[in-house]
Amino acid sequence: MFSFIRSDLSGLRAYTPHPGGTSGSPVASDIPIDRLDTNECPFDLPKELKEKLAWTYQQLIETNRYPDGSHAELKDAIAQYVNESISPVLTQGEAGESLISPANISLGNGSDELIRSLLIATCLGGEGSILVADPTFSMYGILAKTLGIPVVTVGRKQANFEIDLTAAQKAIKQTSNPPIRVVFVVHPNSPTANALTAAELEWLRSLPEEILVVIDEAYFEFSQTTVVGELQQRPNWVVLRTFSKAFRLAALRMGYAIAHPEIILALEKVRLPYNLPSFTQAAALLAVSHRQVLLGCIPEILTEREKLLDFLKQQPNLQIWHSDSNFIYLRTPTDEALTNLAHQLKHLGTLVRHTGGGIRLTVGSEQENQRSRQHLLAALKTIS
Ligand SMILES: *Cc1c(COP(=O)(O)O)cnc(C)c1O
Repeated sequence: MFSFIRSDLSGLRAYTPHPGGTSGSPVASDIPIDRLDTNECPFDLPKELKEKLAWTYQQLIETNRYPDGSHAELKDAIAQYVNESISPVLTQGEAGESLISPANISLGNGSDELIRSLLIATCLGGEGSILVADPTFSMYGILAKTLGIPVVTVGRKQANFEIDLTAAQKAIKQTSNPPIRVVFVVHPNSPTANALTAAELEWLRSLPEEILVVIDEAYFEFSQTTVVGELQQRPNWVVLRTFSKAFRLAALRMGYAIAHPEIILALEKVRLPYNLPSFTQAAALLAVSHRQVLLGCIPEILTEREKLLDFLKQQPNLQIWHSDSNFIYLRTPTDEALTNLAHQLKHLGTLVRHTGGGIRLTVGSEQENQRSRQHLLAALKTIS
């Protein structure tokens, strides 16, 4: 109706976010609802940390004042954390030049904001297209389209979800007007849970410096595999991480990018000056300072993942893949069976993500997983 609204937006749909709480799900209200559709950590912040955060809010945060727009303290703490993942020994004191410093870090209101900032800083205004390999995290394509940035899509191998590198290379060669400026990959990928293979990493290393390589490590804490140690040799690579998963702060929106200072400078130019509320900064600082406690639940989640995988392997008519993360991807022989399965699980109270021709199931708490196994068993009986 309004002619002032950009015409290409009429072809886009607003992202339907995960419903807050459990409202909006067509399930009986007297059964427990397990939110195994968004890959969060199943545990809230421990009570003591919530109390600390509440104290900080009451005593130290002046709500009438703008937040710290430089994020200095938080960047310092994150740089230290990131360096531990490169070399636990070096961080003991002999800080070499190869370590990450705050100049290598930019913070965003969730990594979603950083994805958008990267798109603005690279492709906006007809200057570039992006390349993604489906199925993958949908936000890259969604955000690109809202900015009028073309999205080039290639596929993955069915056997292990490795990117079709021949198709990707061909797409880069053949796409012009505008050329591919950014390649987005997730390590490990969502929804398929596979870490980058040696061949994929070699291909990313072979890309020319005119192309920005974004490696989204949202699940790093679960996979314990990272490319940050290579960033010094790869000035055209950016690593994205988030506090929404293992750090248990999805509600508070905090993500970070690690890259060459020149890329960081570009990100800082395009971001909103007060993108992170004071409360979010306080929570992220608290979380990173207590990482030993928060990340302490990861072995338990990985054990639970193996239990779930063992269970799933015994089910007929299910195709499942190995997981490098805190979620599992599965498929059924037909699309119809898959839709049916997703629907039944939801009806029984297990929310899953039906995407990319499969179902993505988050590894939850022991109790949640026990229920998801029961529900899978019940639902599979009716479809096979
Ligand atoms: C969950 C997730 C994120 C996190 O996004 P936030 O905006 O930080 O909550 C980023 N990338 C991938 C691939 C994810 O699965």
